[in-house]
Amino acid sequence: MLSYQHIYHAGNPADVQKHALLASALQYLVGKDKPLTYIETHAGRGLYDLGSDEALKTGEAAGGISVLERRLPADHPYRQRLNAVRGRWGEMAYPGSPLVAALSLRDMDNIHLAELHPQEHAALAGAMADFPAHIYKRDGFDLALALTPPTPRRGLLLCDPSYEVKEDYQNIPKHFAAIARKWNVGILMLWYPILTSGAHREMLDRLEQTHPDHLRHEVRFPPVRPGHRMIGSGMFVVNPPWGLTEAAADLSKLFKAP
Ligand code: SAM
Repeated sequence: MLSYQHIYHAGNPADVQKHALLASALQYLVGKDKPLTYIETHAGRGLYDLGSDEALKTGEAAGGISVLERRLPADHPYRQRLNAVRGRWGEMAYPGSPLVAALSLRDMDNIHLAELHPQEHAALAGAMADFPAHIYKRDGFDLALALTPPTPRRGLLLCDPSYEVKEDYQNIPKHFAAIARKWNVGILMLWYPILTSGAHREMLDRLEQTHPDHLRHEVRFPPVRPGHRMIGSGMFVVNPPWGLTEAAADLSKLFKAP
């Protein structure tokens, strides 16, 4: 039974890292006049209201998008996606990764989104109604394996679990190895938390051994409340596209700015 709802965490510093890197990676990919496939294994609801009771209860956006956005250059692709979403849904609207992706892509591209939670899935279908996305209420890892290698073959997969299922730490390296075997040109992006317990470390060691061509980018931020176990977040990218290393380095500066 899944209980995680991303609305309590939308716009936090981890989201900013993930969504900014996703927008940068897609910007490089759409620079070529060739179609691509976007797959997301854990999509969430796609669109968040930062003025909702749930978002205000934790107030996580206050330490994330509210301070970090001002440090992004005006022409950063993530900033452009944020502006597009606010223009359409209002000032408190915040795009989840499916919307960051859909607004970055073109009519010729294919979008596949998996979300298992019934309410999140229904909300996702609503948020994506005007986009030509395929939406599945299905296990995201199963979907990714079934779709790969996708048509078109060029493309990117985002895997953003809530790590509610503790086995994710053991299983993700196996899933990534299987997906990369079937789709050796795919760009695979994984978000992970940096935890005081170090629970993420073994997973990262295994991923690094299996995928020599990777980018690992990590940012640190204060815990949302005293004693909270998450002290930063990371993105592990297999087959990083040209330019992503520089975009990630720029993003690090933003997190370190006074
Ligand atoms: N990627 C989203 C974003 O950045 O806007 C946030 C996703 S949230 C961290 C993780 C989501 O995965 C939750 O909505 C949860 O219901 C869903 N989920 C959990 N296990 C899943 C699975 N095995 N397959 C598909 N969705 C799953």
